[in-house]
Amino acid sequence: MHIQEKEIRRVVKDEKEYRYGRFMDVREVLERMTISYDESNGCYRMNARMSIQDEKYIISMKISQDGQIIQSHCNCSLKGQCRHIASILFFLKKLTITSYPYFYEKDDQWNKQQQLAKIERQRQERILHKKQQESLELIHLYKDQLLRESSAPFLSQQYQLKVFVQSKKDHLWVAFKILTPHQSYIIKNIESFLKAIDQHIHIQYSKNFGFIHSLEAFDEDSREIIAFMNKCYLKNQYLQQGIIKTLMLSDELDEFYNMMNVLPSSYCDIAFDKKISDSFRNLFKRRKLYLRFS
Ligand SMILES: [Zn+2]
Repeated sequence: MHIQEKEIRRVVKDEKEYRYGRFMDVREVLERMTISYDESNGCYRMNARMSIQDEKYIISMKISQDGQIIQSHCNCSLKGQCRHIASILFFLKKLTITSYPYFYEKDDQWNKQQQLAKIERQRQERILHKKQQESLELIHLYKDQLLRESSAPFLSQQYQLKVFVQSKKDHLWVAFKILTPHQSYIIKNIESFLKAIDQHIHIQYSKNFGFIHSLEAFDEDSREIIAFMNKCYLKNQYLQQGIIKTLMLSDELDEFYNMMNVLPSSYCDIAFDKKISDSFRNLFKRRKLYLRFS
């Protein structure tokens, strides 16, 4: 229909209502509309019903042949100067009518498709949202992984541990050394050594020797010694005070023998006090522990 924008503006003066009407999706809300040609008055008569969020609006208009709005009425509180009028006028502006009376009814099929499309859009949004969540979680996971890996040392070589067994006050005690091809370094603080392995901390043993600790920094046999060390240290925490440099063996004796039996002899060194050496020597022999005695 021939309707000019300035005519819509003239009828719906309120800027907000005008804009609302302009951008309203009329097909969503217009339930039915009839336009008939009134021959005796030479104008069009339009009646329509809209449904917006369970509110019904009854709109009627009288439009001249050249597109002048002669009368407009809506049952909403704005009485014909409203978004409903504006929206229908914008709709009519685009509508091509070939014969009168013209009858429009909301297409249920079209409406259903709209509903389906809306549901599909929401579904897609939910999927997208879920994917975003998953991606975020993956990124966090990956970050954690990177952090862990970057804190693990780059290993150019693995070190070996050596256990030193001594007898003291009728007990067996063990101390530990780290071996390098040229030197050996005594572990002076077992607690900080174990903590360094757990948390990948750098320990400096001498001016020229230090490294970031981790299980991977030690060869496989030495890792067994570290596992034993961990276990034994927990108990020694209650048996000793101050910085722990050697571990006292008590209940762990059997486990210690078993471990030493399977490890190569270079992993253990046994020093005995002359006076009590025989009894320990016999004990070791009885348990068939084949070690090089120093
Ligand atoms: Zn209205």
